[in-house]
Amino acid sequence: MLKIDSHTHILPKKMPNWSEKFGYGDFIYLQHHKKGVAKMMRGSQFFREIKENAWNAELRIDEYAKFSTQVQVVCTIPVMFSYWAKPLDCLSLSQFLNDHIAKLVDKHPSHYVGLGTVPMQDAELAITELARLKKMGIKGVQIGSNINDENLNEERFLPIFQACEKLGLAVLVHPWNMMGEKKMQRYWLPWLVGMPAETSRAICSMIFGGIFEKLPKLRVMFAHAGGSFLPTIGRIAHGFECRPDLVAIDNNIDPRKYLGKFWVDSVTHDGMMLEYVLKLQGSNRVMLGSDYPFPLGDLEIGRFIDEMALSRNVKEDIFHLSALEWLDMSKEDFTK
Ligand SMILES: [Zn+2]
Repeated sequence: MLKIDSHTHILPKKMPNWSEKFGYGDFIYLQHHKKGVAKMMRGSQFFREIKENAWNAELRIDEYAKFSTQVQVVCTIPVMFSYWAKPLDCLSLSQFLNDHIAKLVDKHPSHYVGLGTVPMQDAELAITELARLKKMGIKGVQIGSNINDENLNEERFLPIFQACEKLGLAVLVHPWNMMGEKKMQRYWLPWLVGMPAETSRAICSMIFGGIFEKLPKLRVMFAHAGGSFLPTIGRIAHGFECRPDLVAIDNNIDPRKYLGKFWVDSVTHDGMMLEYVLKLQGSNRVMLGSDYPFPLGDLEIGRFIDEMALSRNVKEDIFHLSALEWLDMSKEDFTK
């Protein structure tokens, strides 16, 4: 069965030192300090160590073959978004990353699908880059769950979403710049608590801000099975019912009506939770996702789903049909 992993990250092996190039800011750069391993540095601070599978396309294809998964949807690592930078500098950095992904997809069209990144802090520049992505054969864009602490329902982002809808580009909303991060450094809480909350923040902002009403053809996927949104839908829907004066001020449609309208990935690490997600979303809105190559990801690329007692139809949805619809692609795109 064709398997498409809808959520993976990649970087170019070599990147300019943006801080030196632009003359300010703690941009990410790579220090290849030993063979097959690099340190991601944020200014002079160590951010994270990555291995060769973060940049070596052929090695990744081989690792994926072990889990009989042919296709990886690739996007950059959220720390690269750089929405805080001067817009033109962020555009230049984004173009560098997008060109790398476009080239990778050209070289391995049956193994990779690309998502780009754009300077969300400047709608005009973002839209120009979206049009360029489309021309380069990139299928969508990955954006943060907030943009410099502004929620995705803000007026200034609407033209960007309109452009995605018009160009037919898929959108992946990925948690980043986690709320409360500075106040909960210990125990990896920004990743364990902040990220799921961020994703729910993004979904709620888009629902209550009426984005899906304004743009019914916009195809959006939320990472990590939608974070804490689905597990707390009861509370969110009840809040909408009991305090419409607070919640239903921009959109009076029940949040439960949006279940199954957007896509989520399968990154739950828990079969019981995935069953619940499938029940709420419908299998045609749930896609295999791994967050490869990071340790918090599902690095056996959906093996737990293979082992679950799900029908063949449901597995087909999860492993490729949902992703094909989200990306607006067909099976034949991978058998050429
Ligand atoms: Zn991720």
